[in-house]
Amino acid sequence: MQNAPVIVWFRDDLRLDDHPALAAAAETGAPVLGLYVLDDETPGEWALGGAARWWLHGSLARLSKDIETIGGVLVLRRGVAHEVVEEVAKATGAQAVFWSRRYAKWERDQDSAAKAALGEAGVEAKSFPGKLLYEPWIVLTKDETPYRVFTPFWKALRAKGELRAPLDPVSSLAPPDVPTLDAAKSDDLDDWGLLPTRPDWAGGLREAWTPGEPAARQRLGRFLKNAAAAYPDQRDIPSEDGTSRLSPHLRFGEISPARIWAKTMAAVEAGEIPDKAAEKFLSEVVWREFSWNLVYHNDDFPTEPLHPKFKDFPWRDDAEARAAWERGRTGYPIVDAGMRELWETGWMHNRVRMIVGSLLVKHLLLSWRDGQRWFWDTLADADLGNNTAGWQWIGGCGADAAPYFRIFNPMTQGEKFDPDGAYVRRYVPELAKLPAKHIHTPWEAPAEVLKKAGVVLGETYPRPIIDHKRGRERALEAFETTKS
Ligand code: FAD
Repeated sequence: MQNAPVIVWFRDDLRLDDHPALAAAAETGAPVLGLYVLDDETPGEWALGGAARWWLHGSLARLSKDIETIGGVLVLRRGVAHEVVEEVAKATGAQAVFWSRRYAKWERDQDSAAKAALGEAGVEAKSFPGKLLYEPWIVLTKDETPYRVFTPFWKALRAKGELRAPLDPVSSLAPPDVPTLDAAKSDDLDDWGLLPTRPDWAGGLREAWTPGEPAARQRLGRFLKNAAAAYPDQRDIPSEDGTSRLSPHLRFGEISPARIWAKTMAAVEAGEIPDKAAEKFLSEVVWREFSWNLVYHNDDFPTEPLHPKFKDFPWRDDAEARAAWERGRTGYPIVDAGMRELWETGWMHNRVRMIVGSLLVKHLLLSWRDGQRWFWDTLADADLGNNTAGWQWIGGCGADAAPYFRIFNPMTQGEKFDPDGAYVRRYVPELAKLPAKHIHTPWEAPAEVLKKAGVVLGETYPRPIIDHKRGRERALEAFETTKS
């Protein structure tokens, strides 16, 4: 058994730093074989979307290099993941398989299936924490029930005291021998077709992002140095680089929340950022934690509203309206800017996610599930917990949600958070020449202003897809059905 390898089954934890499963494998002194299995079957509708596949390609390429640098190997395989893990474990004569835990129902079922199969084959199977700050069964109410409201959850998490210190990055691994590698039969990443070919829609993503652990670490460093101190004031301004943009890195586990926490607190202690700014930033990181607690404690959370009274909500089915929203052609400039930012860069600013979400589920009366699905395919950070929680929040049907009757006004939101129109100008260039006064309400601009700016409503830019007042009233009428 001395030379029998330990397999580390990588999933949403594509890093070497603060990786309890990898660190434990390294400690055994046995050769370590990293394994990533692209599984499009088990997740069902949650198989990775287009933008996330693009990200995964870059992240795996990076992890593969980084593992090789420290002596190990990353094997790539496709198929039903727990079956492939069992097959590779048997073929390589592995003594153990270690992995970081995941929390959705299908993810837990898969882990159980892997554990059972490996156990039968006499291979040790062990799971570790690492995705969250605390395992989702740790931060509970006094009655040992899960929290449904964020603020008490946040307070309870803080009251847990010192978080575990993140583990140092694994710096050396015993290499597997050639027969082990031959038996593991790695695929070639380029053969997986994760990158788009024709049409190549990923130009904007390439410009905006560098997937992988080193880039995640740099991004956190840059954020703490340049933007964190002003985070509470700037985080709602989409034209500013006021947030960390760590979400895709967190989604793929290229950085751990414990590392983010530790680095942020170190910056506070060094007097580089005020305590209040750190609190605000870390509380957002804990929203992610809260979302994953909801996923863990509610098996059908990704597909069913937490509030059952929304189960029969009279959502409309309107493919044309949905397409206008998806393509950023609703006639509401801040909404269209957001949807185009998403399409171009695979990311959208949080404030704008709320505004576009509100227009979809309220003015257009399209289901939060439509929005969730589109985001799933187009966001590089598409995350089952955060995406579902975000959409249920905006749909008024989730935990600690915005009440359904609170309907965002896309004009006033635009004027408040994009007062000079810089964000709209960047993503909706056909409106770029409009003065700030009219940039969020082009349909109210005098004819000569539109002419001067080269805007022809209904031709170069659409008129509003629905009148704000009418959309609002219709949404409120629909909401009445949840009261009976
Ligand atoms: P920062 O403000 O720098 O925050 C740091 C980290 O905290 C983020 O990277 C993220 O992991 C977490 N975080 C911040 N805000 C939230 C939030 N409201 N809820 C949960 N976690 C948060 N986030 C995703 O990561 N994936 C998604 O698929 C996703 N879908 C969303 C859908 C809707 C409708 C809404 C309203 C929000 C969604 N969010 C999602 C949450 C949020 O918009 C993004 O996490 C955030 O914009 C990412 O930018 P950032 O990394 O610069 O955030």
